[in-house]
Amino acid sequence: MPSRTAPRVLIAGASIAGPTLAYWLHRYGWQPVLLERAAELRTGGQNIDVRGAGREVARRMGIEDDIRSAGTGELGIRFIGGDGGTVARFPAGTSDTAGATAELEILRGDLAQLLVERTAEHAEYRFGDWVTGLHEDPAGSGVTVSFAHAPDEQFDLVLAADGIGSSTRSLVFGDDEVEIRSLGMEITWATIPRTAADDDWWRWYNAPGGRTINLRPDPVGTIRASLSYPNDRNGSGTEYSSLDEQRAVLRERFADAGWEASRVLDGFDKADDLYSQSIGQVRAPQWSRGRVGLLGDAAYCASPVSGMGTSLALVGAYVLAGELAAHVDHRDAFRGYERIMRPYVAQAQNLPPGVPRIANPRSPAGIKLFHLGLRVASNPLAGKLGERLSTPPADQIDLPNYSHLER
Ligand SMILES: Cc1cc2nc3c(=O)[nH]c(=O)nc-3n(C[C@H](O)[C@H](O)[C@H](O)COP(=O)(O)OP(=O)(O)OC[C@H]3O[C@@H](n4cnc5c(N)ncnc54)[C@H](O)[C@@H]3O)c2cc1C
Repeated sequence: MPSRTAPRVLIAGASIAGPTLAYWLHRYGWQPVLLERAAELRTGGQNIDVRGAGREVARRMGIEDDIRSAGTGELGIRFIGGDGGTVARFPAGTSDTAGATAELEILRGDLAQLLVERTAEHAEYRFGDWVTGLHEDPAGSGVTVSFAHAPDEQFDLVLAADGIGSSTRSLVFGDDEVEIRSLGMEITWATIPRTAADDDWWRWYNAPGGRTINLRPDPVGTIRASLSYPNDRNGSGTEYSSLDEQRAVLRERFADAGWEASRVLDGFDKADDLYSQSIGQVRAPQWSRGRVGLLGDAAYCASPVSGMGTSLALVGAYVLAGELAAHVDHRDAFRGYERIMRPYVAQAQNLPPGVPRIANPRSPAGIKLFHLGLRVASNPLAGKLGERLSTPPADQIDLPNYSHLER
């Protein structure tokens, strides 16, 4: 919409996709307003990767070094056997894209904080409110937004970056239009105390029944732990139960899991950042309707097991902002955004065969077989195979250059 002076847009969700979009829109002379439902910035979350084209976007934003300085220091991933010993190890990647642990890895909350700091001067942030209604002006001049707590207001566009369960998306797309495809797994994350026996590897332990315990280092002297287990395919897990109910379910499920299970369960009892999710992918046939567009997890969540959520959010925000700045008509911009992003998203959502079940076997024999495969893949003689298996398709997009549109 270059013909108009400083279009005003409302962005719902201040995590990764929302602030990145605000950053780029401001560079093209737009006025972004960010709306976050939580009362303050949510700083929780664990180690996330910034890879490939996502890393290139971070570079173009001038925050690559900040991400590196705030890095988790994770050395790579080690798979742990029933006796507590190492079955196989894969060191962190050394390139923009490679490795189960990306070279550029940061806590989700630290990245969100960094992005908000970078945009605080140029975007208006509003916390503790959300969109309850969207009415497009029939004359085509904008969209009137109703809020839970503030008076109605008009914007040129509304962009939903409010995550996998986006309620802004639900206001324009029916529940039967957007599929949230369950991956049949529930994950609970929380921060637990670090002990002298911990190291800086991501440690992954499988217990029978498809249960998995993960321990990962962080840069602040604690350990980021997660417990995962199969749920029914409807995705109805514990995420909507109270925290105490979630803890009780985990205690029952992991009582006999072995390795560090009891330590993690004790840590989860005291953790104040416990967060559970039935993991899944968002499949939406369209990422816009009228003057409302979707991005990040709200549009194309690939799930935490893809290792691509953050890179998709960064790249999607960059491309959407560039296309909006490049076109006079928002419909052309939304079309351009989908044309560029669809193939990239399809690659990221196309998980390797059997994932996540293959890495979370149910039977002791399945765990043995998984470990055997890991030993083969981690052997230097297996050449590039191990790296290929553990590297998501993060660089498979020809990132456009919109620098001529900057103001
Ligand atoms: C607290 C938290 C912890 C996370 N931890 C991990 C993790 O450990 N590992 C991992 O792989 N991924 C994690 N994620 C998801 C990860 O951030 C995303 O997959 C990815 O970075 C894409 O980000 P996004 O900005 O599209 O969506 P999200 O990161 O999901 O952010 C959505 C934002 O929108 C806000 N919001 C929700 N509803 C509304 C509404 N109606 N109006 C306004 N705002 C709203 C949310 O509070 C949140 O800040 C976490 C997300 C959150 C919010």
